[in-house]
Amino acid sequence: MNNLLGMTMEELKQFAAEMGEKPYRGKQIFIWLNRGVRSFDEMTDLPKALREKLKSCAQIGGCSAVYVQEDESDGTRKILFESEAEPEADTFEGVFMKYSYGNSLCVSSQVGCRMGCRFCASTLGGLVRNLSAGEMLGQVLEAERVTGEKVGHIVIMGMGEPFDNYDNVAKFLRLLHEGKGRGMSWRNMTVSTCGLIPKIEQFAEDFPQVNLAISLHRLTDEGRTSIMPVNRKYPLEELLQAAQDYTEKTHRRITFEYALIDGENDTDEDVQRIIRKLGGMLCHVNLIPLNKVEETGFDGTSRQRAREIAGVLEAAGIPATVRRQLGSRIDGACGQLRRRQG
Ligand code: SAH
Repeated sequence: MNNLLGMTMEELKQFAAEMGEKPYRGKQIFIWLNRGVRSFDEMTDLPKALREKLKSCAQIGGCSAVYVQEDESDGTRKILFESEAEPEADTFEGVFMKYSYGNSLCVSSQVGCRMGCRFCASTLGGLVRNLSAGEMLGQVLEAERVTGEKVGHIVIMGMGEPFDNYDNVAKFLRLLHEGKGRGMSWRNMTVSTCGLIPKIEQFAEDFPQVNLAISLHRLTDEGRTSIMPVNRKYPLEELLQAAQDYTEKTHRRITFEYALIDGENDTDEDVQRIIRKLGGMLCHVNLIPLNKVEETGFDGTSRQRAREIAGVLEAAGIPATVRRQLGSRIDGACGQLRRRQG
């Protein structure tokens, strides 16, 4: 079966041509798919015979929501998606969040993850597989369907390491931006990485206007390696140099994520280290009091201490914010996503 969602307009034109149809049929299909239709019968400007032909040789192949949890205090919804593209029925999660500037969807890029960060739930079962561009786009369309609201921003901070699945993520971003599709502005997209340096360099080339976030969490090699195995391959100094090169090349402010772990990385000395290492960089530090994941044994820093740290960083000239905590009542907060129902 051909999965059509996730194909570019060009690929769909080609597909139509291969079916013996006029290529502009591909454009029509592309437009319908990006509006979130769930069946070929909804593509009302296609001749009935063509719709029947499509049913016999293709499927839309997005995602369907199998479980939705809402945190009524802030409107956050955690959605368990099931892929329609794969017969194995893999599931993965996304989180719909309401902000003053609009709605945002936190999208998963992989089922599971192989990066092994010790505080994160998504990596506990290892990597199952990469998600396709269509499965990522499917999360956006399905989130709009189940919430009845528009998704204007996406952050790729769900399950998985997006730069470990670079090509599919890149295709997904281009599909979102496509004018005949959703026409989402590059600046409304954010990709977060644990620090795969070669891909950071490629990203600066390919997507200079998309926001980049790097998960730092500790500012010594020894300390960072102890909670993020990826630091062995891509050590801190090289990562910070890559971040510096990124800002010089793109002139874009980079976001550093720093999950505050009680007693691990939140001492005064740790804060001074942040100031020494990041001072002068075109950056913003996003402090996230660690969300509890039972298996990890780590606890989050108090919000009061987090605000205090933000104050010290600000005073030293480093823009810093404490991330609003959305969805913690439904385990929809950072690092708590895993394949689980109920
Ligand atoms: N793999 C990517 C994107 C997914 S995680 C990355 O590492 O950046 C999104 C953010 O949540 C990352 O900064 C990640 O380190 C952070 N995170 C993971 N577990 C967390 C937890 N338990 N509490 C708070 N943040 C967490």
